[in-house]
Amino acid sequence: MKINIAIDGPSASGKSTIAKALAKRLNYTHIDTGSMYRACAYLALKHDLKPEAIELVDLVNRSHFGFSENGHILLNGKDIDAKIRSKHVDLLTSTIAQNQAIRSTLVSIQQQIANTKGFILDGRDIGSVVLKDAELKVFQTASIESRAKRRLTEYQIKGIDVDYQTIYDEIKLRDLQDQSREHSPLIQTEDAYVLDTSDLTIEQSVNQVYEWAKELIEERGDTND
Ligand code: C5P
Repeated sequence: MKINIAIDGPSASGKSTIAKALAKRLNYTHIDTGSMYRACAYLALKHDLKPEAIELVDLVNRSHFGFSENGHILLNGKDIDAKIRSKHVDLLTSTIAQNQAIRSTLVSIQQQIANTKGFILDGRDIGSVVLKDAELKVFQTASIESRAKRRLTEYQIKGIDVDYQTIYDEIKLRDLQDQSREHSPLIQTEDAYVLDTSDLTIEQSVNQVYEWAKELIEERGDTND
């Protein structure tokens, strides 16, 4: 029997990378919920709206959020993935994610998408709010230093000129915003397995979550449905 997997954790801990690889290995569907919050930040920028504006909530309610076969976010049918991964969008997104009306719209879309088994959702509130009954919950973390180093490498590969200290400070600020917000803050639920990826390679991290998942899937019988 298939299960659902919730992966939560702070920014730049590599959740989406691990979730994507795991989905491929298990033949499950991966949903990167952060990209939906990022799409809301994109809407705010495009329409020049403040994070708390009621017009933004209306716009989000009227928009369609979907995913392409390769996991890219589709906003009203348009692939905007390349436009939502910048430093500017990072910080605005974690401010917009404090807006409870927007959260509630996105949470219900996520619950509708994952209303059967065979899904891996990654985010901040998956195990605590979106998929409270997920069979496997993982809290994926890593030191700020190792997360900042990874982000720096990603930016360097993309040719973006930014220094380590700026990235370090921004990650720290996003951690603070995500952990201290009033609605659905990032928390480690009691039933979550903890994966500290500070000193692990991507392959080692995927193997670990795969082992946890396999054990639970086998406990439930046939792995094909
Ligand atoms: O995962 P990612 O870094 O793309 O998420 C961007 C931001 O969206 C996070 O910093 C967080 O503020 C917000 N988010 C959230 N709940 C989720 C996923 C993301 O609040 N389930």
